[in-house]
Amino acid sequence: MSDEIDPNARPSGDGCEECLARDTWWFHLRRCAACGHVGCCDSSPGRHATGHFRETGHPIMQSFEPGEEWFFDFRDGQVGRGPELTAPTSHPQSQPTPAPADRVPADWREHLHP
Ligand SMILES: [Zn+2]
Ligand SMILES: [Zn+2]
Repeated sequence: MSDEIDPNARPSGDGCEECLARDTWWFHLRRCAACGHVGCCDSSPGRHATGHFRETGHPIMQSFEPGEEWFFDFRDGQVGRGPELTAPTSHPQSQPTPAPADRVPADWREHLHP
């Protein structure tokens, strides 16, 4: 379990690492419990949290949404609980969903994965 969850790993930032690098936008955010990588959810166009699991094998993530504490294991698809991770455990409350606001198209709902 220690390789899968490192409570001391700080989140990589306030937004999806790959979306920020590619000037795209995300819907909800997920934080890798092993290394702190912040990526976007599977409803987001980029699905970068799942992409991070595929690339690294880091199997567990925690929601990075304010007020959400659930963990998710990519291997078995189970939602569960886990230890307290290093703060912050969500993006800033002031940050909109989806984000970043200046990159979200007016018809963003049409771009979500079901
Ligand atoms: Zn992304
Ligand atoms: Zn990771």
